[in-house]
Amino acid sequence: MGAVKFRVAICGGGIGGLSHACALAKYPDISVNIYESAAKFSPFGAGLGIWPRAWNVLCALGVDDDMAKLTTVSPKNGRIRTFSFRKSDQSNGFTFGNLFSRGPLLTFHRPQFQQVLLKHLSPSCQIHHSKRLKSYSQSRDGGPIHLSFEDGTIATCDVLIGADGIRSAVRNCLLREQAEIARNQGRLKDEQELLAGRDYLSWIGSVAYRALIPVERLKQDCDKGLLALPTTPTMVELFLLRGWTFVILTIFSLSQYVGTNVHMIVYPVSKGHMVNLVVFHSQPELQDMPYQGPWSKEVDETELFNITQFENWEPEVRNWLKYVRRPTLWAIHRVKPLPTYISENVVLIGDAAHASSPHQGTGAQQAIEDAYFLAELLGDPRTTLDTLPRALRVYDSFRRPWTQQMSDKANANGRYFTLQYDFDFAKGETAAIIDKLQEMFGLIQDEWEWCWTTTVEDSLKEALLRLEDD
Ligand SMILES: Cc1cc2nc3c(=O)[nH]c(=O)nc-3n(C[C@H](O)[C@H](O)[C@H](O)COP(=O)(O)OP(=O)(O)OC[C@H]3O[C@@H](n4cnc5c(N)ncnc54)[C@H](O)[C@@H]3O)c2cc1C
Repeated sequence: MGAVKFRVAICGGGIGGLSHACALAKYPDISVNIYESAAKFSPFGAGLGIWPRAWNVLCALGVDDDMAKLTTVSPKNGRIRTFSFRKSDQSNGFTFGNLFSRGPLLTFHRPQFQQVLLKHLSPSCQIHHSKRLKSYSQSRDGGPIHLSFEDGTIATCDVLIGADGIRSAVRNCLLREQAEIARNQGRLKDEQELLAGRDYLSWIGSVAYRALIPVERLKQDCDKGLLALPTTPTMVELFLLRGWTFVILTIFSLSQYVGTNVHMIVYPVSKGHMVNLVVFHSQPELQDMPYQGPWSKEVDETELFNITQFENWEPEVRNWLKYVRRPTLWAIHRVKPLPTYISENVVLIGDAAHASSPHQGTGAQQAIEDAYFLAELLGDPRTTLDTLPRALRVYDSFRRPWTQQMSDKANANGRYFTLQYDFDFAKGETAAIIDKLQEMFGLIQDEWEWCWTTTVEDSLKEALLRLEDD
């Protein structure tokens, strides 16, 4: 190994942390250590979805061939009907909108996704398990950063990446550090805002019940026609005929089952061997209130069945729910817009920086994008130990506004999916209900299309130019 230009410590070996380590693998002059609080990578976990924007990043990381083996869908571009939106909280549910995307939503089982990232790490990258970061300290002169772990051990690095998820220890420390800087500079209002750092984490008033169902358990109902296995559309190639371009699509897409304050989605994972079922229950009046109890726990399925009067919902939904056993409940929290993602040589990525509602399936995607974007700035030959702060400033100036804006879009869609709209869907006339649902669907589509109409590369190119200007 040649000379090392600086040492990166990644706190957190989740989707963002591993993606970042993977993206740094092509820069042998950067040494990488990952500190993960868990004793080992768990073989358990739910599903996650990847849109074309993040898929392009996975291609740039060189993990696409291995990832493609884990999914049922061909990750090719083309116009695809991804989701059908159904109004389901009535016995005769109906479709009110079909979401078309350019390229499919690829769905994965999280532990398998992580295994692929692990496979592509540089052999020199070291992973330290059972290392829960407590705090860090750094001097203002760019000297090494000192890390302290809960087990009493310490480590040092030149750049610290806070990829430690929604309850980030790095974020808490970073906000305290920035508050101190603000006080020293006489910016007392900023200091107060930063000191209220813990309030940046808030419950969105919604919980998710998640269950994985092995497909063989569904066979009987599928054979009787009571259930249709969810399959993301398989696209058949483009073909040309007399100067016209044609695309053949299968007619199948995934359904989003929408009702007042309740929303359900079902999609295949593990190459179609499992179905991931998620039911969201929203209580808008509780938004920003403290959530009582553990944020994630296994619950009895009767708790899920009691959240609404499912007996009045369309049969398809009731048939799905029959298969749920001991779902995991997740209280959905978000990180409110932070004033910064950086402090000297410390930087936040993924949920630590901008956890949002999962209604666009983009939390992991945003973490992957941050990871890649930052790695390209760090790996650039113009970034050295001396110019590190400049690279982090560029990261912050591009990724913070973007991720915060996209998080707002996910939050907005979360509200639409549970029929939080300026219309009472329980009382209106049928024609008016349909009109309003279609109007709302137009907004859903507008909020979502960034996932397939934009690329990370475009903003990265601009950011790399900024390394010269800054
Ligand atoms: C119900 C639900 C459904 C979702 N569905 C999707 C989806 O379909 N698509 C999608 O893109 N996203 C989805 N998400 C969001 C997605 O899971 C997260 O946005 C994503 O995992 C964030 O990645 P991350 O690396 O930032 O954090 P994480 O994946 O949470 O990783 C953080 C890591 O840091 C470790 N850690 C924590 N604290 C410390 C510490 N102090 N020291 C050291 N290590 C620490 C943790 O053990 C963990 O390994 C969903 C989320 C929920 C709740």
